[in-house]
Amino acid sequence: MAFKKKKTTEEEMEGLQGDAEPQEPVVKKDPSEMTLEDLPGIGPKGAQKLKEAGYTELISVAAASAGEISAACGISDGTAEKIIQSARSMLDMGFKTAADLQERRKEVGRITTGSKNLDALIGGGVETQAITEAYGMFGSGKSQIGFSLAVNVQLPKGEGGLNGRCIFIDTESTFRPERIIQLAAARGLDPKKVLKNIFIAKAYNSDHQIVLAEKAKELVKEQNVKLIIVDSLMSHFRSDYSGRGELAPRQQKLNRHMHALQKLADTYNVAIYLTNQVMARPDMMFGDPTTHVGGNIVGHMSTFRLYLRKSKANTRIARLIDSPNMPEGEAVFTLTESGISD
Ligand code: ADP
Ligand code: MG
Repeated sequence: MAFKKKKTTEEEMEGLQGDAEPQEPVVKKDPSEMTLEDLPGIGPKGAQKLKEAGYTELISVAAASAGEISAACGISDGTAEKIIQSARSMLDMGFKTAADLQERRKEVGRITTGSKNLDALIGGGVETQAITEAYGMFGSGKSQIGFSLAVNVQLPKGEGGLNGRCIFIDTESTFRPERIIQLAAARGLDPKKVLKNIFIAKAYNSDHQIVLAEKAKELVKEQNVKLIIVDSLMSHFRSDYSGRGELAPRQQKLNRHMHALQKLADTYNVAIYLTNQVMARPDMMFGDPTTHVGGNIVGHMSTFRLYLRKSKANTRIARLIDSPNMPEGEAVFTLTESGISD
């Protein structure tokens, strides 16, 4: 028989190196990366047979009948049926129950911003499996929240962190290690260790930014990354697609970028924190004449959207805009030397 029994091995996650704390449980292989070879009981030979018979992808196996597969590969109907069922479950086809979703939601982790008020506004901190977007004017505290999160994610679970590492995609060259050292020291953490647990990538243009986010997957899988920051999301997209008629291609690329981030959040139980600029709306005569940039794509794909504005001195006001499960509201926080606080 062509199909030799072979044990499938779960992809092993590499242990953390260096100074990091114990890591998270093994992460399953990304379903979109599964191939015929991953079917239980199918070795490379079996996969080759399936391919020769025209079943080149899991989806084609999942959609076939047992009779077709058994005839094409010369195996019994029973074996063919098992292969088809495996392909279907690997592809996660069909519906999930709300109970399944709730199970997944139980794994959601939260990272403290440092301000209890701000944490409470978003349900207890910045969530994994979600995108949190902060938009506001220059100096409103968007980056400062990012720096605080980059440090706080490293705190133990129970203390506002996730015992994890951070990826920081810097598009405006405003990341400052000195500031991280300040924040780490204020929390009694070893600044050197804290710096080592933040992977920085400077994005030089929007395409580079997209590639960085897509490449981040490896790091996320192997280095116990629990937070990805993009500061800021739109600056390159705005300058790279500034001409007339360039909005559609820009939104297309942006859509791809946002989807890649969302997928990382979902697959690896990671929190995404994005900052975004605002632009003046000359058409608005009353109320707050600013709006975030990025259009509907960013708006629709962000789970939590915070609008930050300056108040007196180092005080800032955050407003929660259309959240799926939290009431709209505002929180006051301050920017201090030791980070974000009430
Ligand atoms: P943006 O929204 O443009 O990203 P930032 O998050 O960089 O703005 O916020 C800048 C503000 O953060 C400064 O105006 C200052 O009030 C505050 N800030 C920055 N560094 C410190 C520090 N070391 N101590 C106290 N406040 C600081
Ligand atoms: Mg900034």
